[in-house]
Amino acid sequence: MRNISRRTFLQIAAGTAAAGTAIPKLMDMKAFSAAMADAPVTKVPTYCNGCSTGCPMFAYVKNGRLWKVEGHPVAMKNYGTLCARAHGVATDLYNKDRVRQPMKRGADGKFQPISWDQAFQEIAEKLTGIIDKHTGNSVVWMAHGGKESYASLFLDEIGSSNYITHYSTCFTSKTNAWDKMAANQLTIDIRRAKYMLFAGRNYGGAIIPAAMKQLTAAKEQGRKIVVVDPRLCELAKIADEWIPIRPGTDLALFLGIAHTLVSENLYNKTFVQKYVFGFDEFWNANKDFTAEKAAAICDIPAAKIREIARDLAKNAPAAFLDPGYHGLHNHYVSSTQIAQANVIVNALLGNFYQQGGLMPSARPALGSLKPAKRLQPEKGPRIDGAGVPNEYPTVEPGRGIAQHMPDRIAQGKVKAIFMYHFNPLRTAPDPEYQKNIAKADLVVTIPVDWNESSYYTAHYILPEHYFLERMEPPKPVSGNISHDFPQIAMRMPAVKPLHDTKPLLEILKGLTKAMKIDDLYPFTVDDEISAALAPLGIDANRLKSEGCIELPTPIKPGFPEKDGKPACGTFTGKIEFTIGAFKLHGRPGVPTWIPPLVAPKGDDEFRLIHGKQPWHSHSQTNNTPYLLAMTKSYHGTWMWMNRQRADKLGIRNGDTATVESRIEYPGQPARIVRKNMQVKVTEMLYPECVWIPSAHGCFSPNMTYGFGQGANYNDFAPSRVEPLSGGCMVQEVIVKVRKGAS
Ligand code: SF4
Repeated sequence: MRNISRRTFLQIAAGTAAAGTAIPKLMDMKAFSAAMADAPVTKVPTYCNGCSTGCPMFAYVKNGRLWKVEGHPVAMKNYGTLCARAHGVATDLYNKDRVRQPMKRGADGKFQPISWDQAFQEIAEKLTGIIDKHTGNSVVWMAHGGKESYASLFLDEIGSSNYITHYSTCFTSKTNAWDKMAANQLTIDIRRAKYMLFAGRNYGGAIIPAAMKQLTAAKEQGRKIVVVDPRLCELAKIADEWIPIRPGTDLALFLGIAHTLVSENLYNKTFVQKYVFGFDEFWNANKDFTAEKAAAICDIPAAKIREIARDLAKNAPAAFLDPGYHGLHNHYVSSTQIAQANVIVNALLGNFYQQGGLMPSARPALGSLKPAKRLQPEKGPRIDGAGVPNEYPTVEPGRGIAQHMPDRIAQGKVKAIFMYHFNPLRTAPDPEYQKNIAKADLVVTIPVDWNESSYYTAHYILPEHYFLERMEPPKPVSGNISHDFPQIAMRMPAVKPLHDTKPLLEILKGLTKAMKIDDLYPFTVDDEISAALAPLGIDANRLKSEGCIELPTPIKPGFPEKDGKPACGTFTGKIEFTIGAFKLHGRPGVPTWIPPLVAPKGDDEFRLIHGKQPWHSHSQTNNTPYLLAMTKSYHGTWMWMNRQRADKLGIRNGDTATVESRIEYPGQPARIVRKNMQVKVTEMLYPECVWIPSAHGCFSPNMTYGFGQGANYNDFAPSRVEPLSGGCMVQEVIVKVRKGAS
């Protein structure tokens, strides 16, 4: 058992007493330990909320209080383990900075607690007025992800097209390209691969526990792992080879690999002839883009590029170029083409739907409730322009463009915004620009904590139950890494709600009732569970007790075919090297080299790049005391700088430096952003860039643990939209660095 300090003990005793248990508020440590040791333990299945991986786990509860969490042994995402973030995030149940009841911002700008009834009545009144005057299409629902079905019922009812995810601030260029070219987001089969190439993907930082277990096993078995990254990231540390690359030039590397595969006749011709459309168009546009040309751009020797291509080909189809995630997608002007070139390299290897290569996720076919048809108003075009002719026609409407809401508010197109577990003031570029969200007529946030978007922009805050207090319908456990059998998991409440909060379904029931919308949610979570499980023949009670269940029918390798013809879901049924929708809108269908938007010039200029730390999930965990303790011990808020470059600026390890960027919008004066950061001086970083972790830079004073620690990469970037996929290009930013605080 861990050591419990007197201070922790008193907090625990107080918390336990508050939860209404029999433990007296004051007791000595010995008696408390005995009471805790002897108390019966309840084991409750749930899944982690520490990142989008959603690892199934068990919460153990003693005396009504969370005692510990443990990974679910069946789950393919984690095989019984959890990463550090999961343990930290679980303790946030008791974080004093949770929003504890509905809040309303007064005329003085300060928040006051109000009742749920008052909140529902006032929001309903304002929202009805907005819809009557400006139509339902002036209402936007933004969400990091999750519970889209609840939001969609609401948006359909009021006539809004505007469900917006966080993808445009994360990895939308990947989903856009892969869905258009392959009609699927395929996953890597680490367990059977013989050669694995990762570029801009750090499974050791953005951890998926099962992926790391599989990768360490692969390493022990002598299967090859190569990591291309400007930084010696955590995954690179266990790889056979770390290849540093000039940031912003991964497209050149991928095109150089593709060129080698084709020019040296190493590609899988049978696969290409049968399952690829548009090969000639790609090759005609790129036949001069040799490994040597790529080398001059990306600063990886041509011989090494050829070696990678040959090794990939030698081991294909049990070899892959990882499709990537946040690392390269949305960060550059070329992010869409990077994703396209990734599809092409993999297809040239013939590894689609092949074990050891890329396999589809094994997903259970869950059922769903079929809501009765309702009379619904006609919707207008999407307010963010995603999928709209003459705006951003090739951006996926299902994902949207999150970062330019302030512009849409200024244009009078957006009048009301709901933000469900979404914090664009931290996760989208330029917080000062994002603060203008407050200018909408109505801003409602539904968070668990006092995030920046709530603190600076909300008119009302409607706090949701913490994930350990909620029951939620079943979901597939799948994605990112391949697993042969479908799995299903669900979330049960581990403890009683500690505060005056509600689950989202109850919030929307209350709000729509106050809007006099009849029975929009005529169901319970139990009804959803029954509907989801009906096609699988699994008893709800079994899932509620086991938490994660594996189904017996495996996925099989083999390219999808119908009547003997390719049928992967694209228009041609084949992997499409050229995207028709891009050509339709005057853009090339195939990827060709695109230089970065900006380049560092003087001794004091650097490209700013960022990445995840193994113990944080971007801004989501930046107020978790246990994880911040790890930050402190690892100097986790420091900015990394290459030693040779630091020497030129006279900067030594641990020095404070001023980091500044210039933010400029058309027709407006430029603004200089300046932050003080401590510097980690290292050989483990490509010299032309500086790297900062993505977790820090909290500026909500009500997030008392994380407030004021470090800086955020979004602080330095203007808000822009990459036209093909809607990404925000946050690594197309140059910062100037000088020794000393500003
Ligand atoms: S990877 Fe870690 S933080 Fe993410 S869901 Fe799994 S255990 Fe939680």
